[in-house]
Amino acid sequence: MDRRKFLHAVSGAAGLTAAGPLIRGALAADGVPGSAHVKRIAVIGAGIVGASIAYNLSKRGCEVIVLEKRAPAAQASGNSFAWINASYYDSPDSYFVLRTHSLNEYHRLAQDIDIPIRWGGSLEWYDTAEREKDVVDGVRRIQNSGAPTWMIDKEKAREIEPRLEIPGSPQIAWCTRDGAVDPAGVTWALLRRTIAHGGQVIYPATVTALEAQAKGIRVVTDSDTFEVDLAVAATGVGTSNIAAMIDLEIDPMRVSTSGIIVTTAPMEPVLNTVVYNADTHFHQLGDGRIIVGEKAGPAETDQHRNFLQGRPNTYPTAELASEHAGRILQVASRYVPQLAGAEVASVGVGWRPLPKDGLPVIGHLHKVPQLYLAAMHSGVTLAPIVGHIAAMEILDGLRIDLLSDFRYERFLMD
Ligand SMILES: Cc1cc2nc3c(=O)[nH]c(=O)nc-3n(C[C@H](O)[C@H](O)[C@H](O)COP(=O)(O)OP(=O)(O)OC[C@H]3O[C@@H](n4cnc5c(N)ncnc54)[C@H](O)[C@@H]3O)c2cc1C
Repeated sequence: MDRRKFLHAVSGAAGLTAAGPLIRGALAADGVPGSAHVKRIAVIGAGIVGASIAYNLSKRGCEVIVLEKRAPAAQASGNSFAWINASYYDSPDSYFVLRTHSLNEYHRLAQDIDIPIRWGGSLEWYDTAEREKDVVDGVRRIQNSGAPTWMIDKEKAREIEPRLEIPGSPQIAWCTRDGAVDPAGVTWALLRRTIAHGGQVIYPATVTALEAQAKGIRVVTDSDTFEVDLAVAATGVGTSNIAAMIDLEIDPMRVSTSGIIVTTAPMEPVLNTVVYNADTHFHQLGDGRIIVGEKAGPAETDQHRNFLQGRPNTYPTAELASEHAGRILQVASRYVPQLAGAEVASVGVGWRPLPKDGLPVIGHLHKVPQLYLAAMHSGVTLAPIVGHIAAMEILDGLRIDLLSDFRYERFLMD
């Protein structure tokens, strides 16, 4: 889905509300587990969100068991464009604030752990007057919040990205505090640290049932059963299955959409920023690999429909992968000529975890308080702050105001 349209859909659904400061919070209502009772926790899902929550919990002395169906970062997190940003004035305000906090949290995390992150800002432009106006309006709103973001012309953009070809004379949004990560690299770094803190990461292990107990919850996998004080479901597109396991009133997720991500072999330094426009988007990692995202999407053919039906993350044949990578790199090479014929290291298909109204779903579930849910798009941007706040909510028995727009229970109010 178009990124700007997606955010507009979010704003239409949620309306504006004010965000409270991060440290404000209320003690949890009775029945919700707090620090005294929660010592052993199962985190279901080893994507970047689950890994961040596991890291934060284990850092605070919990016994953490991560249970993963396939392998760490095998799903959305390993097939993500991984731009970390707060470059749109998202609605409600609290969503923009959450993203902004997460960028700050990434800086803190990078002091604790060696993570593959690159801060270079982002450049974004469009080729129609309507979309350009959208960008200009958005940047004006962000500037009002004090964000370091400007509209610049092509000459200024050339100073920032000397090797970037920009056709025409677009106005370009330059958001200096954005960055990008290697999302699989961050996921593994968080899990390695969880293990160093005494945690376990078990895979493949598919959670097939969740049974709430008088105290704690029983987590059943296809090979074992774990009695824990609390379970966290950070299961991405698998969240609908978790909802079904506990008979949740409403599945919080909607149908996932796919995107293809091409990763080149390491190349000479070509790019400083994340570049995003109507045709393509790309950025270069610190090790030289360039990540290129798909914009146009594959043609509506039976072959493509059949291929996508089972929500694969990999291609059925090397030929199809190479054909798609070639098409995506060809488009990107209009802007970075070095990408024409670049060596391809991998081509993956990512499936976006999309909550029904586009906003994250985070927190203890009213129906089963021993289960904490964390499902979201933009999970690569949000993982550090979500991990930090989830650990506070779970271990300190707090309900953090910053998350009040993102509770599952909002779906029950219509
Ligand atoms: C093409 C694409 C581009 C994107 N671009 C960006 C971007 O630029 N910036 C950004 O911030 N976000 C972006 N996103 C979104 C972001 O990648 C996701 O929001 C994020 O990766 C979600 O992380 P997660 O850990 O919640 O989910 P996942 O990475 O999907 O991890 C969930 C894990 O749970 C496991 N699991 C599921 N069910 C079970 C079960 N029953 N038992 C055990 N394990 C289970 C799965 O195997 C999986 O490994 C993009 C996504 C895609 C697909």
